[in-house]
Amino acid sequence: MPRSIFEADHEDFRQTVRKFVQSHVMPNYARYCEQRLIDRELWLAAGELGLLGLHVPEAYGGSEAGDWRFTAVVLEELSSFSSGLSSSFGIHCDIVAPYLCELTTPEQKQRWLPGFASGELISAIAMTEPSGGSDLANLRTSAMRTDDGWILNGSKTFITNGSRADLVVVAARTGVGRPSQCISLFVVERDTPGLTRGQKLDKVGQEESDTAELFFDDAVVPLDNLIGEPGRGFPHMMERLTQERLNCAVSNLAHAQSVFDQTLAYVKSRKAFGSPIGSFQHNRFTMAEMATSLDVTRSFLHDCVMAHVEGELTNVQAAKAKWWSAQVQNEVLDHCVQLFGGYGYMRETPVARAWLDGRVSKIWAGTNEIMKELVGRDLGL
Ligand SMILES: Cc1cc2nc3c(=O)[nH]c(=O)nc-3n(C[C@H](O)[C@H](O)[C@H](O)COP(=O)(O)OP(=O)(O)OC[C@H]3O[C@@H](n4cnc5c(N)ncnc54)[C@H](O)[C@@H]3O)c2cc1C
Repeated sequence: MPRSIFEADHEDFRQTVRKFVQSHVMPNYARYCEQRLIDRELWLAAGELGLLGLHVPEAYGGSEAGDWRFTAVVLEELSSFSSGLSSSFGIHCDIVAPYLCELTTPEQKQRWLPGFASGELISAIAMTEPSGGSDLANLRTSAMRTDDGWILNGSKTFITNGSRADLVVVAARTGVGRPSQCISLFVVERDTPGLTRGQKLDKVGQEESDTAELFFDDAVVPLDNLIGEPGRGFPHMMERLTQERLNCAVSNLAHAQSVFDQTLAYVKSRKAFGSPIGSFQHNRFTMAEMATSLDVTRSFLHDCVMAHVEGELTNVQAAKAKWWSAQVQNEVLDHCVQLFGGYGYMRETPVARAWLDGRVSKIWAGTNEIMKELVGRDLGL
């Protein structure tokens, strides 16, 4: 299907991202998985090519693209090769970026954005806690104001880029009362006294992206590391979750499409009973159903991307896009594993890896159930 929403500039940029994946990622990918960490050099290379600073104003070293389709291109190209890579980079350049670009003072921008855009400062965002992620309003990490700074206590878990991050946007409770008035956001820097990091968590997939626990034990955060309006952290997060969910949806679809394409080639070449396995009616229908699902999903997603470019994407549209694309992605991945037979169950086969990598899309950034809650509430239910 033609990529009707992308123009010549986006397609030129796509070639840059594709070359980045081929020349910088592919040769080192096995090692990233083994060490469960992406090399810092890869972040610097991405920064050099302008992949990290799409949201960052030019005055602070970014390219200030002002058109979210460039971000969609980055996500599509990274997810087509590895959803873990897309997650690590996506958290930095698309999820954290709006916090650092929109909620900061000029002095804070000057401190953080140039390094953020160049890849010298890797970032993470820490909302989820061991006691729960879906019910964000009930987070327990606290921040108490003193003359020497904010004193943070508590812990966060499942934090993407957590073991490596130089800057972590942390949500903490700064008062009592309604969530919309008593949660604030802080940028916690690498060497903050009282910040410790747990072991990298042992995930079933996405080995290359590091995911860690963070502990705050009387961690002293400078007063001027608070970002946004004090006490308004919860609405600040809610406003930015729309983009985060669209980000997930775009990645989900690109990941599924890439695995589908690999499977199409396989079912044409693999033979059983003297015929290509794709020629059996059951498998032909399975492929036809997947092709249809992917195209229909793309159509809705492209509408969502364009709505976002125009500043009109709603929280509910983004929730629909996220849960639906995750569902389609997981159905496609499962069918593809089946079509690869025994090879589909071997870690060395990309489709097996993709199956393990993709499962989390129904869980993170708001589970499918929570997305359906948002859609259901919008229906007045
Ligand atoms: C690999 C990975 C990376 C992640 N990266 C980050 C990150 O960078 N930063 C960050 O802050 N978080 C991150 N997360 C956390 C993620 O967003 C949470 O795991 C997610 O929001 C779910 O929270 P939970 O795990 O505490 O599940 P819970 O909230 O305990 O939910 C458990 C189950 O109960 C269901 N449930 C809960 N409430 C309802 C309800 N009202 N109705 C119906 N069902 C419900 C959920 O859908 C789920 O199935 C990451 C998670 C993973 C796995």
